[in-house]
Parts: sequence; C-alpha cells; structure tokens
Amino acid sequence: MLEKDDKKYIWHPFTQMKDYIKEKQIIIESGEGVYLRDIYHNKYIDGVSSLWTNLHGHRKKEINDAIRAQLKKISHSTLLGLGNVPSIKLAKELIKIVPNNLKKVFYSDNGSTGVEISLKIAYQYWQLKGKKGKVRFVALKNSYHGDTIGSVSVGGIELFHKIYKPLLFKTYFAPSPYCYRCEFNKTLETCKMDCVLKLERIVRKYNDKIAGVILEPLIQCAGGMIVQPPGYLKRVEEICNKYNVLLIVDEVATGFGRTGYMFACEKERVNPDIMVVAKGITGGYLPLAATIVSQEIFNAFLGEYKEKKTFFHGHTYTGNQLCCSAALANLKIFKKEKVLKKLQPKIKLLSKELEKFKELPHVGEVRQCGFIAGIELVKDKKTKEEYKYEEKIGIKVCMNVRKYGLILRPLGNVIVIMPPLSINENDLKRMLKITYDSICEVCR
Ligand code: PLP
Repeated sequence: MLEKDDKKYIWHPFTQMKDYIKEKQIIIESGEGVYLRDIYHNKYIDGVSSLWTNLHGHRKKEINDAIRAQLKKISHSTLLGLGNVPSIKLAKELIKIVPNNLKKVFYSDNGSTGVEISLKIAYQYWQLKGKKGKVRFVALKNSYHGDTIGSVSVGGIELFHKIYKPLLFKTYFAPSPYCYRCEFNKTLETCKMDCVLKLERIVRKYNDKIAGVILEPLIQCAGGMIVQPPGYLKRVEEICNKYNVLLIVDEVATGFGRTGYMFACEKERVNPDIMVVAKGITGGYLPLAATIVSQEIFNAFLGEYKEKKTFFHGHTYTGNQLCCSAALANLKIFKKEKVLKKLQPKIKLLSKELEKFKELPHVGEVRQCGFIAGIELVKDKKTKEEYKYEEKIGIKVCMNVRKYGLILRPLGNVIVIMPPLSINENDLKRMLKITYDSICEVCR
C-alpha cells in the first residue's frame, strides 16, 4: 500500500520517475545508529549518511533529547525583528569554531538558500561600497552549489544545469581541478596547477566586474568527489586577496568533520570572507543552514533606516528553534565524544581498504578526502573511456548493494562512500566489502 501511494503521490528529487515507478523501491520506516530499516524490517547501512547529513547515527539520544526539550518550550517564532534563545546560543558556538575573521551568522534552511544568500550579500556588499560594476562571480566547472536559480548560476555540472541557462545570470567559469581528467593534459608529476593559473587570469582580467569567487573547499563533491591538489585552496585565497574579490567557501558538504577537520578551510588555514554551512549542522536531523560573514561585510550594511542599506532577505523558518537546538546538541557531541580525534583512525582504515579497489579492471580512480571517498568507474582503464550515461553503471552498482544491506547513491559513474562519522570499523569494512563485490558483479 505504502509503495503504491509513494509512486502515486510523490515526485522524488533527482529521480527519473518513469524508472522509479517501474522498479521495486525501499520505504524507510526507522533508523538506529548507522542503520536504516525499511517497512519489512530489512536493515541497511546508511552508506551516504542520508545524503551527506547524518554524523552521529540515527536516533542519537542527545539530539533527540535536545529537540524534545525544545518542544516543551516553543517550536518556532520568527527571527524577523525578534531574537530566540537557541539561535543566539548556536551563533555564538559557530563563531567560536569557524575561521577567525567570520563574525556574523545569517540563518536559512538549506544549502541552496545558504549559497543564494552568500551571493546576494557579496553582490550587495560591493554595491554599498560604491563598486557598482562588481556584479559577477567566478565559479569552477564541475561545481555544485544547490538548485535555486542563483546557486545554479554558479553551478558547473552540464547535466544538471545546462537546460536552465536562459534563466541564469552570467558567471565566469574556471577549470575544475580534476587531475584524473586534467584539462591541460598534465600528470601529477608535471602539474604546475594550470587550473589555478587560469582562474587567476580570469580574476585579473575581470576583477572590476567580479564580486567573488565561490568554491567547494578541498573537494568538489556532487561533481564526482573531485579532490583538489594540495595548496590549491590556499592559492585561490591568495588570488582573491590580491585582486580584491571576496572568497566564498561552500562548506555545505565538507563542513562538520567530513574532511577530518571541523571545516575543510582549516586544512590550508584559509580565511574566507563568507562561509556557507548546512547539511551536517544539525547532525542530519533537521533542515538548517548558516551563511557566516566577516565583520567588514556586516558593517557595510549598517546605516540609517532611510539609507535602505538593509539586507532585504529572509525565510519564514530562519533560525527555527528546533533546528538550532539540534545543531547545538550536534556541536556538544563533537566535543564530548572527541569525534574528530576518533575519526582519524577510521580515515586511515578507509584509505587502506580503498587500496584494493584500485586493482579492479573497471575502477579508473579512487579519490579520498578525509572521510569522503569516490570510486570512478570506467569502461576502459587504459584509455579512461567513460561508461555512457544510458549504461547507468553507477545506479546499477548502487541498486546491487541493496541486496546485501547497504544504501548508496552514485554521482554518475562515481560510487560515493560517505557513511556517518560514527560508523564503527566493522561496519565500515562490511560496507566496503559489499561495494567491492558489487562493482565486481556489475562491471564484470
Ligand atoms: N552546496 C554543496 C557543496 C552541496 O553539496 C549541496 C548539496 O548537496 C548544496 C550546496 C545544496 O544543499 P541543499 O541540498 O541543502 O539545498
């Protein structure tokens, strides 16, 4: 009945519904720790953390308790002209852990709106500073920043974004630091980071038109888990400083421990002007995002009422109390359970286990950034020939792992490994074994 009604009433995101309706689907009823359970009581490891959000497992007591305690007080009141307790406490905690120059938190409810806000703030900042021409952004090919029109305008994935081109604002695109398929035909040995040099040329040439550079730090996630070469992010920061454009880092996917650091920016000691966080901020429980900016940016919006320098933007559920309470509990768990410290051996184990995949005839490259990994499947390992879109190779592997009690979701031909940070070593090994066996079965 539920399966029927799911197919009858729901339009699933990023899903070809013709296939979805035809095929057998899983309906999740409950979850515990790293496991999801369907309506027939089958258990699955949540191998992609319910789309990269869940950090400490499902039904984590501390987060459940925090939400329950907040329910007894109030679930929602507006942040438009009113304060609320958990949103204040959370902003204070966030400012303690983000890069030093970030001082003010603007809340919204998902990664896309968080990015949208960052673009509008960057644009308006320059308008208020009198640099009226700085209205464009630089983004990277293969980047993904969300699905609203603004965030799609800085998105660089043809498959998702091309059709909307007539609706989008113009953006300058720099090369993706995709070393496996280097645009400049360089190898790791001959790499002089031509991709970053090209980005610098764009910023130098158009800097009086550019408000900011936006990128996902260390790894382009939805673009296929494309890991940037060491030093790349730092170079981008230097370029932004040199040419007076803002640096916006989108930590929606990388934030809250995923890369082995609380935020990816920390690895190369990068101080962005604006940082966007979402997904893991509530430990994967409730929708919340934050766009966090420097004092300098915030100050530019201050003025007399009649000057109309106000940031005229806000969402109905901005700073929602239940979401902020979940986020506060999430941050407490990081401290109390020493999550980042405990994660380090698991990152090593992941590296070790991933080595085996490299020998497989249809694995072109295995990429890892902390506790995030992507396994790129190729038709021909020697020529790096890609599987065709219609071969659905990634989807086939991810459907196959379900038989063995694992949920994965691919990015095209890339198999994503992104379990909750709390996964234990046995479950991590098990999920990798299932993935390995399924790649062998499907790509035979
Ligand atoms: N930015 C990045 C880097 C993301 O990976 C995503 C989602 O995957 C988003 C933005 C959009 O976030 P949301 O799906 O919450 O709108």
